[in-house]
Amino acid sequence: MKILIQNGLVVNADGSAKSDVLIEGGSIKAVETSITPPEGCRIIDAEGLLVIPGGIDPHTHLEMPVGDIRTADGFEDGGKAALSGGTTMVIDFVNPLRGQSYLEAYGQWMERAKKATCNYSFHVTVTWFNEEAAKEIALLAKEHGVNSFKHFTTYRDTIMLEQGKMIESFNFIAKLGCLCTVHAENDEIITYLQKKLLREGLTHPKGHALSRPPVAEAEATNRAIALAEVAEAPIYIVHLSSGGALNAVRAAQRRGQEVYAESLCGHLVLDDSVYFDNPREKAARYVMSPPYRSPEHLDALWKGVADEAIQVIGSDNCTFTQANRNRGLHDFTKIPNGSPGIEDRMRILWDRGVRSKRISAEQFVAATSTNAARIFNIYPQKGAVKPGSDADIVLWNPEKEHHVSSTTHRHAIDYSVFEGFTFTGSPEITILNGEVVFEKDELNVAAGAGKFVPRPPRW
Ligand SMILES: [Zn+2]
Repeated sequence: MKILIQNGLVVNADGSAKSDVLIEGGSIKAVETSITPPEGCRIIDAEGLLVIPGGIDPHTHLEMPVGDIRTADGFEDGGKAALSGGTTMVIDFVNPLRGQSYLEAYGQWMERAKKATCNYSFHVTVTWFNEEAAKEIALLAKEHGVNSFKHFTTYRDTIMLEQGKMIESFNFIAKLGCLCTVHAENDEIITYLQKKLLREGLTHPKGHALSRPPVAEAEATNRAIALAEVAEAPIYIVHLSSGGALNAVRAAQRRGQEVYAESLCGHLVLDDSVYFDNPREKAARYVMSPPYRSPEHLDALWKGVADEAIQVIGSDNCTFTQANRNRGLHDFTKIPNGSPGIEDRMRILWDRGVRSKRISAEQFVAATSTNAARIFNIYPQKGAVKPGSDADIVLWNPEKEHHVSSTTHRHAIDYSVFEGFTFTGSPEITILNGEVVFEKDELNVAAGAGKFVPRPPRW
């Protein structure tokens, strides 16, 4: 399939220009001011539209098992939600059980992802670390296209790695040329506050926010950065949500330490009133970690996105049905954690970022695609509209209004945390691997059309 996109404004992270874009065989053949249409190609008029690299969502949990339930959005419907919002690739997470073979867990996730409708890749969580684990981690890096490994400072019973092991893991992974990522919240603070609140009779979902205060995140972020410094490892903080944690990142960046930060689209638009001003059932929908924060933290995050202390915006798409949420209506610690976002991530950043004059269109492209491609070492194959790049492209209409409703969204859950919001700026057409897969608000994509994207070590 050959496609010629004419008259659009091509926006890359490093600049914008009115250009035609020729696509052939799944990749971009040419980006020039005027291209003569080759024989038999489809011509798309992109007058008034932006031609941008397909979004890369670096943080999703599709079809993730948690105890006896799983996240509702799978690789097929979750991928469709992504494509309809302009995201053509996700980096999801393999979470091995403690002691489980890393390669076995990786195989399980690869099997689930076979029906993916968008392109995908995997981070792997380090849930246990010793010589045996190190051998498997090295194989994942050298032979299976994994160049990023996640570490948790909380969830002691399941996936937390204690600090001594974390330093060893950081150092080992850095030597493989791979990137360590961290979920940073102080486990002791959270456990102490959870017990205290429940003892005092506070069982409402707002206890979730009260038990995970900003200081728990700031402390653990600081600590993770310190461990990474000692381990001589670059570090990437996932879902950074508060001003104190951002200060820790800024201080490290100023010292010249290689520290990256990702924030989530939801944290840029929702605040903690969702817990305090809602009855149990509705408040439970917003339970995710870190929790939504008070407005001054949203201001801090936007400042970080604008001055690029925060490089990447993800979604942490991790959806549970209302029935799943209701398990914890009278004990907030039993509510499964997570939030949707894969579908609206780019709209949120355009509407609240570019239209609100907080960031430029180029910064929007950087934060939704290019920076993730660079940091996770798949640039310029992904994250660019340039000759030779893969043809994952979005024709973005900066004026198109999108009304969010659980009756029309493509998530497999029966509510939306963005219910009633209108975001201006939305895709007209999404092109995946050189094929039009979303057009006129309809998807035309087969299960399995998404391709695995291996990511080589960074050095
Ligand atoms: Zn997550």
